[in-house]
Amino acid sequence: MTSYPLEASFLILAWFEHGVGHNTIKKIFTMGIKNPWHSVKQPVYHNHSECNTGNNIEKENWRSGTGGKRLCDECKDWARK
Ligand SMILES: [Zn+2]
Repeated sequence: MTSYPLEASFLILAWFEHGVGHNTIKKIFTMGIKNPWHSVKQPVYHNHSECNTGNNIEKENWRSGTGGKRLCDECKDWARK
């Protein structure tokens, strides 16, 4: 069983619930591919697994993809680290 960063566990659950397969999730973590996601309640999308805002999206508001929104500032900061 692959272990994932603890902070990303909620995000992974959301991915599972939205039909993202285990292999895809594994690929995201091992290859660093970022699948964007967003909340219907926020004006931004997220693409970094350590983004607090991105990981605190309520399940019912969670959607995959960018939603045509701009990238979240916190995710931008993570990308620079
Ligand atoms: Zn973010």
